[in-house]
Amino acid sequence: MNTKPTIAFDFDDVLCDTVRAFLEFREATFGPTIAYDDLSEKPLHEDLGISEDEESKRWDLFFKNDEFCYPKPDVEKISTLENLKPHARLVILTARYRLWHAQILTFVERYVPTLFEEVIFTDHREGKKLKGVICKEQGISLLVDDNPEQIASCEQNGIEVLVFNQPWNRHLQNVRRITSFAELC
Ligand SMILES: [Mg+2]
Repeated sequence: MNTKPTIAFDFDDVLCDTVRAFLEFREATFGPTIAYDDLSEKPLHEDLGISEDEESKRWDLFFKNDEFCYPKPDVEKISTLENLKPHARLVILTARYRLWHAQILTFVERYVPTLFEEVIFTDHREGKKLKGVICKEQGISLLVDDNPEQIASCEQNGIEVLVFNQPWNRHLQNVRRITSFAELC
């Protein structure tokens, strides 16, 4: 019987610096853009001054661009996860829109092929569940995430959650935060 606790890591902007890479892509393609640290808790398209539809089109271009959409993960993050692996079952738990799931699997295969036991997608054809519900159903003890809605769903379902600091979650209060994976050890 597997007695190790399961720890879930969000993919975008926790394991992978997706928004940072998207802003780099956007600047290279469309010219100067907002600085990363100036992003807010508002929807990204509002910070970028474009429509939601335009944002979606630009994400689509980004995810079709190999040069930008597979940013190399931070060395410190990977070594921390390697140290954790003997003590916990590590999984990725992602709410990424299903059209762009394949890029996550390519990223994992390319950079961290042996680190995670599973990639769990919340966005399926049959519907979408919040991560707090999935953690409860799957016996996941801890989630590391940056998204306020997912963080709230963990709190509502009694799941321990660590907030990975990002500009769009700095307004959250009474949460446990980390700014680097080294703090997990
Ligand atoms: Mg995220």
